[in-house]
Amino acid sequence: MKILSSLLWMRVTHALVIALAASLAHAQPIVPAEPGAFLMFLCQASDNSAAPHAPAYYQELFDPANPDMLDAYFKEMSFGKVSVKGSRVFGWFRLNVNSADLKARSNPTRHLTLAECIDAGVASLKAQGTPVDPSQWAGTIAIINVETDAGSVGNGIVGNAGEVIAFFQHEMIHAMGLNRHTHNLPDNAADDHVWGAPIQDVYNDPWDIMSFNRGQRSYQPPGGTHGFAGPTLNMAYRSLLNWVPAGRIANNLVTSDRGRKITTYNLIPVSEPQRPGTMAVVVALPGDVRYLVEYHRSTGYDRAVVRNEVVVREWRADQDTYLVRQTNGHIGYFAGEAPFIDTKNSLSITVQSMGSNGDTATVSVNTRLNKRQECQAQCRRTRDQCISDSRLPGHKRVQQCVREYAECLRGCSNLIDP
Ligand SMILES: [Zn+2]
Repeated sequence: MKILSSLLWMRVTHALVIALAASLAHAQPIVPAEPGAFLMFLCQASDNSAAPHAPAYYQELFDPANPDMLDAYFKEMSFGKVSVKGSRVFGWFRLNVNSADLKARSNPTRHLTLAECIDAGVASLKAQGTPVDPSQWAGTIAIINVETDAGSVGNGIVGNAGEVIAFFQHEMIHAMGLNRHTHNLPDNAADDHVWGAPIQDVYNDPWDIMSFNRGQRSYQPPGGTHGFAGPTLNMAYRSLLNWVPAGRIANNLVTSDRGRKITTYNLIPVSEPQRPGTMAVVVALPGDVRYLVEYHRSTGYDRAVVRNEVVVREWRADQDTYLVRQTNGHIGYFAGEAPFIDTKNSLSITVQSMGSNGDTATVSVNTRLNKRQECQAQCRRTRDQCISDSRLPGHKRVQQCVREYAECLRGCSNLIDP
């Protein structure tokens, strides 16, 4: 009896081992076909079984043949270094968390949404005999069928069901390692940019994807059902991601013993990397003062740019960029118009021409000021001293310093370049 029972037990275990081996033999793990591929899971709240789109709809975002979708965009921004080809979409998977709790989530709890969706997808795929290891993928994306806080978490992303292409472009740049946004910096002195002025708006750089969804120059792909896309990513941030090949950014390094020096650059638009040539100038001055100069033309991912223009951004020591907005409301600089001037740092940037059809912007960077600009710089120094003295008892008031500054500037207006 005892022998019979143990024989039977051996048979049962043997059968189990064979069954397990057979199931392992059939289990085909899902692995990324390309190193840059992302894994996207579609997840449903525990109390809502809606599936707003089929997985195939989301898979279209990664179609390598579509120039408006993510693979083509990242290939272009990275000069061919990054491809998200081979990204895969799976779902829908049911979460244990309900829609009210998902709606209440915010940035500090966003990581829970990502982790729960990934766990649900991994468990479900494993049960179907197709295991997947999210750590093997360049990044993960959790799409949730009900309203919840969306954005990036490390190399992962949480999104709502109807996110537009530009959302993925922005968030995937975060997931690829760039934890930055772009800023907008209104000038507070007519005709003269003041480096590092404190007023600034994060997200309000309309020429950059890292200001997603704040009046950007995005475009609607023809016939697209995935919403708006673009614009480009600035060259400073592309260089932080190590995407920029040698020769694409010209460095104008200015030392404190500089003499008068004018350097001229022919810039091709940042949206036309298929052409050879320089796409940006970084002017680096003493004291961690850096300016990024780019040419934006209405082509490619910048096709929504209204007027071709050269834009200047502060690129500060914190590595963030701050788009300069002039006091007249303009952002870009054009041929034949007033140059960008920073008198305090003895710098002017002039757009000489934009070619016959706008294909190239010729920009000169002058690292020593002319007489009028030197005069303006002296007015500024006098005004700053006057304002700081005004805190002393009995000294003239700040308003008087400002009036004198305006008079001083008028006195400079007739001076010309020697
Ligand atoms: Zn962001």
